[in-house]
Amino acid sequence: MDRIYNFSAGPSMLPVSVLERAASEMLNYNGSGMSVMEMSHRSAVYQQIIDQAEADLRKLMNIPDNYKVLFLQGGATTQFSAVPLNLMTKNGKADYIVSGQFSGKAAKEAERFGEVRVLASSKDKNFTYVPYVTEFNKDSDYVHICYNNTIFGTVYPYVPQTGDIPLVADMSSGILSKPINVSDYALIYAGAQKNMAPAGMTLVIIREDLIGDAMACCPDMLRYKVHAENGSMYNTPPCYTIYVAGLVYQWLLELGGLEVMQKINEKKAGILYDYLDNSKLFKPTAEKECRSLMNVCFVTGNPDMDKKFISEASAAGFSNLKGHRVAGGMRASIYNAMPTEGVEALVAFMEKFEKANG
Ligand SMILES: *Cc1c(COP(=O)(O)O)cnc(C)c1O
Repeated sequence: MDRIYNFSAGPSMLPVSVLERAASEMLNYNGSGMSVMEMSHRSAVYQQIIDQAEADLRKLMNIPDNYKVLFLQGGATTQFSAVPLNLMTKNGKADYIVSGQFSGKAAKEAERFGEVRVLASSKDKNFTYVPYVTEFNKDSDYVHICYNNTIFGTVYPYVPQTGDIPLVADMSSGILSKPINVSDYALIYAGAQKNMAPAGMTLVIIREDLIGDAMACCPDMLRYKVHAENGSMYNTPPCYTIYVAGLVYQWLLELGGLEVMQKINEKKAGILYDYLDNSKLFKPTAEKECRSLMNVCFVTGNPDMDKKFISEASAAGFSNLKGHRVAGGMRASIYNAMPTEGVEALVAFMEKFEKANG
C-alpha cells in the first residue's frame, strides 16, 4: 500500500511505526483479548495505558511536579471557554494577544465571561508576524496567547514576560515540536490532532495553584478541578486517542526526546524556507523571525498559479497543500511525523514546477 506525503494541518500524519504498532495491537492489546477501543476505562489494563502516557509526557516535556496533566475532550476550541470560566474569577478580566484566527476566536469567546483586553493584534499585516508585547494589565487574571499560529505559519519567537500574571498558551500546533520550559506558562492546552494523535483528545497542563473554584455557571465538564480530582476520568475519557498519544510519546522518547526532534524539525523547515527564500516563483509569507517550524505558508502572488500548483502537486502525491481559506496561497504542515524525505521530495517538485512555470 502506497502512502502519500500528507501536508494536512490537522488531523495530520502520524509516525508509520506508531500506526503499525496500533494495528498490531488492534485485535488483542497486550494479551487482554480485546482492542483498546473495547476496553473499560475503569479497567486495570487501561489505567496502566493512561498512567504510562502521562509519565512519558512528563518525561518528554520535563513537566514539574506542581503541574497537573489532564486528558480532556472538546478540542482546543472548548478550552477557549474553559480557560475564562476557570481563571477569570478574581477580577473578571484578561489580556489577549491576537496573532491569528484561533487567538481571535479565543478572545471573542472569553468576552462572554468577562472583560477582555486585546493588547495587540497582527491583523494589520494579515497575521504575518507575532506582536511583541511587554506591558500587561496588572489586574488581569491571565494573559492568553496562541503559541503557534497554524493558519498563518508563525510562532512566538519569545515568551511574553507577564510576571505574576498567569500566562496561558494554546499550543495545539506547536506542542512537542521542540523543548519548551513548562514553568514559563501557567496553563498550556493543545488539541491532539496536529502533533500528537488522532482527533478527540485535548491536553491541558495546568499549574496546581490555578485549579480552584470556577465560575458558578461553569459546567462540571469544563472544570479543571473536577477533572484533576478524577484523574481525567470524571466521565469516559477519549480512551483510544490517549492510547495513540501514548505511542507517539514513546516514539519521541525512543528518538531521543524533544532536543533531537527540534534538530530534525529545524532541518526539515530549513530545507523548505531556504528554497522559498531563493525561489523566483514562490514567496514565504511569514516574517523571518517568527517563522513556524510546523506550518510553512507561501504564495506565488498569482491566485491562478497557486491553484495550478496545488492541483499538480496533489496529482503528484503531495496532498493538502492548499492554504486555509482565510489565508489563501499554500501551506505545508510539516509536523513531527513528516519525514525529511517528504520535504525534500516537495522541494524537488517545486523546483520542477518553477522551471516549467517561471
Ligand atoms: C486546530 C487548532 C485549534 C482548534 O482545534 P479543535 O481541536 O478543532 O478545537 C485551536 N487552536 C490552534 C492553534 C489550532 O491549531
